[in-house]
Amino acid sequence: MEDLFYIKENLAKIKSKISEDVCLVAVSKTHPVSFIQFAYETGQIDFGENKVQELCDKAEQLPKDIKWHLIGHLQSNKVKYIAPFVYLIHSVDSEKLLKEINKEAEKNNRNIDCLIQVHIAEEDTKFGFDINEAKYFIENTDFETDYKNVKIRGLMGMATFTEDKNQIKREFYTLKKLFDQIENSQKFDDSFDTLSMGMSGDFDIAIDCGSNMIRVGSTIFGNRNYH
Ligand SMILES: *Cc1c(COP(=O)(O)O)cnc(C)c1O
Repeated sequence: MEDLFYIKENLAKIKSKISEDVCLVAVSKTHPVSFIQFAYETGQIDFGENKVQELCDKAEQLPKDIKWHLIGHLQSNKVKYIAPFVYLIHSVDSEKLLKEINKEAEKNNRNIDCLIQVHIAEEDTKFGFDINEAKYFIENTDFETDYKNVKIRGLMGMATFTEDKNQIKREFYTLKKLFDQIENSQKFDDSFDTLSMGMSGDFDIAIDCGSNMIRVGSTIFGNRNYH
């Protein structure tokens, strides 16, 4: 355990930089269960994974009060595996997926909290609704009737991977503006309260732009080894 001490230090360092109103999701993808267990024992409760299989394998081996966040692209046919226990799905990027989440949530007799993923980056490899698509979808959907078992808690977005801080800022502000518009429209009740943006390289900018949930991996656990 001694050699995992850096995880505790990294968590403390990040926590000291952010206000208590910002939720820190520790992104543990590719890292072993022992790293998560260690972070959990220092008091970290929110963990994020981007693959369903990996998330399920880890959840099975770890304490049941961990809040599991699914942050990566989710295929509709895999929703059933996480539906019984997932805490928050950040990556709702289609109507079809949301329907499936609602269906599986109902089967499990629960509500599943979700964020709508919005595509704000220049790169076209990233998933999500475009700003206008997201607006249209939200405005024209009767969530209370059609999605009784999901709760839309907010939005998630990723900025372009670039050194250009102004560009990152612009992209995050675009998402914050949409977030405010939806919040002010009273489409959802007060539970529309979560703006998930910011990763290791840009969480400080994201928070300046209004983020209240950051997803941080490498700054906590170190570099990922995909082999
Ligand atoms: C991997 C990942 C992160 C964390 O990235 P780091 O740069 O390691 O902090 C955040 N969000 C999503 C969606 C990810 O896939």
